[in-house]
Amino acid sequence: MPRRRTLLLMAALLAAPPLLPRAGNAAQAPARRPPAPPRPPRAPKPLVVIDPGHGGKDPGAIGVSGTHEKRIVLAACLDLKRTLERGGKLRVAMTRANDRFVPLEGRVRFAQARGAALFVSVHADATESPAVRGASVYTLSAGASDRLADSLARRENRSDRFGMPDFQDVNPEVARILASLVRRETATGSVRLARKLVAEFDREPEVGLLGNPHRKAGFVVLQAPDIPSVLVEMGFMSNRLDESKLRKPEYRRKLVAAMSRAIHAQLSAATLGTNTTTPSRET
Ligand SMILES: [Zn+2]
Repeated sequence: MPRRRTLLLMAALLAAPPLLPRAGNAAQAPARRPPAPPRPPRAPKPLVVIDPGHGGKDPGAIGVSGTHEKRIVLAACLDLKRTLERGGKLRVAMTRANDRFVPLEGRVRFAQARGAALFVSVHADATESPAVRGASVYTLSAGASDRLADSLARRENRSDRFGMPDFQDVNPEVARILASLVRRETATGSVRLARKLVAEFDREPEVGLLGNPHRKAGFVVLQAPDIPSVLVEMGFMSNRLDESKLRKPEYRRKLVAAMSRAIHAQLSAATLGTNTTTPSRET
């Protein structure tokens, strides 16, 4: 029965498992590997809060040719946000991204509610002396470093000062110590950032600096006790040269580039736990 034998042989061949997996099957079969250990959650990128001064019903300083400070600082801050985000190393939020009024205390709360790593308020104010010009950077101080700083802070502050952070469930003595540690750490961070900003402005040949460009005063927006905070005065709207420069996007771009470098340097120094700023005399 040759035909039957042939059929049996074919049946046996079909039923037998293949000796070697065929190439197609091997590709489809999932490789058996031990499960990968779970990745540790990636820490979120640090958040920089940019605070364009004034807005809405508050025009800020009005320049010699009628330019509103609120428009100049918003344009600069939108550019700064784009520039900072391009590096991909940090997140940016703005207290206002259009022409609307934001109370001073709302600006600080905005940064605190989001756990900001840095707070940068941007202004271009006016002073009584039309000859005064140049960029400067302010950090918080109970007493102003000079008359100009004092008068600028008085102009800016229209709200009550902020209290200390709320350390609930901690005895008052410990709370006082914690609060002073937080404040000291924050003050150190603010001063470092201010120095970096001044140094970076100085590297831009077209950017003029005000004499003694790191100043101190009691600005309300700098009073978050837990976030290093600075206030940048890009120049003075009361000075004809500063006003005309600040109206130009190309000039603002130089200020923005300098601010971006300083902010990146500050955050990378904080991440590495190092400080590259050499100590200097404080006024
Ligand atoms: Zn202002």
